[in-house]
Amino acid sequence: MNKPLANSPAARDIAHVFHPQTDLAGIRQSGPLIVSRGKGVRVWDEDGTEYIETMAGLWCTALGFDNERLVEAAVRQMRKLPFYHGFAARGHEPMIDLAEKLMAIAPVPMSKAFFANSGSEANDTAIKLCWYYNNALGRPEKKKIVSRQKAYHGVTIATGSLTGLPPIHNDFDLPLRSGHFLHTTCPHHYRVAEAGESEEQFADRCASDLEKLIEDEGPETIAAFFAEPVMGAGGVMLPPRTYFEKIQAILKKHDILFVADEVVTGFGRTGNMWGSQTYDLQPDMITCAKALSSAYLPISALLVNDRVYDVMVSQSEKLGIFGHGYTYSGHPVPAAVAVETLKIYEEIDIVGHVRDVGPYMQKQLQERFAGHPLVGNVRGIGLIAGVELMKDGPLRIPFDPKLKVGPNVMKAAQRHGLIMRAIGDTLAFSPPLVIDRNEIDQMCERFQATLDEVLGMLQRSGELARGA
Ligand code: PLP
Repeated sequence: MNKPLANSPAARDIAHVFHPQTDLAGIRQSGPLIVSRGKGVRVWDEDGTEYIETMAGLWCTALGFDNERLVEAAVRQMRKLPFYHGFAARGHEPMIDLAEKLMAIAPVPMSKAFFANSGSEANDTAIKLCWYYNNALGRPEKKKIVSRQKAYHGVTIATGSLTGLPPIHNDFDLPLRSGHFLHTTCPHHYRVAEAGESEEQFADRCASDLEKLIEDEGPETIAAFFAEPVMGAGGVMLPPRTYFEKIQAILKKHDILFVADEVVTGFGRTGNMWGSQTYDLQPDMITCAKALSSAYLPISALLVNDRVYDVMVSQSEKLGIFGHGYTYSGHPVPAAVAVETLKIYEEIDIVGHVRDVGPYMQKQLQERFAGHPLVGNVRGIGLIAGVELMKDGPLRIPFDPKLKVGPNVMKAAQRHGLIMRAIGDTLAFSPPLVIDRNEIDQMCERFQATLDEVLGMLQRSGELARGA
């Protein structure tokens, strides 16, 4: 990529913006990619170059980049009531409609919905509720929260602590030092299982690691366990067979709340409306965001069951108020867009569509790439997948991180008309849910050209033997 021209959008960006999750020194050299319009599963940059968005932005633009109905829903609501809130017993219809709909489609019986603006805020609220709940029950010691290594639950001070990824912690003084945030084994069979360990045996080991952690800390100190049904931003990792069955039994035994973070998996991504249905989860709380509004406007939700809500009511009665909420909790415009999004999902049977094209995408990725010399593992479910690059796949020998093979594939993909996300050396696929078979074929063809280009580069530089 050339240095951006003076006064171009890229140059103005470098001069005035600091970017989330970006190498702030690197961007000064390479410049940002300025995306200026979108249609379906595609976006175009300021020079008119077209790309397939393999990540639906950030796992979120489920209905693609040009849904007119969502635009109209926003405009209608803007004209009618551009802002109102839920503080001090106020309310408005978009928030009620959305809560009602979420209760109707929830994967397990839920009691009430609370709204926020991002996945981080929904999870942050869930953490606060775990503490509130145990204070209300007279268990002030039961406060520690457990998540998994490589989990992604957000970046606020509390949710960043819950996230199990070093770049989110380093030099931000996270996790919070109070010892409230603990991380148990990452259930990624391909990389973490021992040689010869079956998925079931590995799930046993993950469960016994969790139980040991709980017993070492004291079950009376553990409030909750947070989990993504499929781990997304940590590298697209599916739970090994029987994992959640074993984990949930331990949580029950020790009276530990279970929070399912469905920020990525909610609304069809795994081939069911919820990842909780795909993996038979019985959470006490569910957080969701992203595809809730197809990401057209920021909104997230936290669903709580009766067990939690009843305690909240009695505690708020005791204290005189439930002292939590955001100015934009349930903002009517994103709420109206979310209601319309859920209507569209039903009308076009988005779950049926994912069940149709999801297995096709998985098959194409397996058939085309599992045997590629750069690839160690291809995994996924529904319309989410990870292709993990390895120096030696069968022996599970990774590339030297200094080679930045994953990031280099991501850069090369851009030259071949794909916007991708490299998580270390795993390339993630999470396209808009409306993607069709032809678009999947095109995405795979471009990815093939990308991998072949990077393979050639590594062979020429001597990092991989020719013929590898
Ligand atoms: N939870 C999961 C599973 C996520 O993938 C993300 C973001 O990618 C979040 C929470 C945080 O959401 P946000 O970036 O909207 O704060």
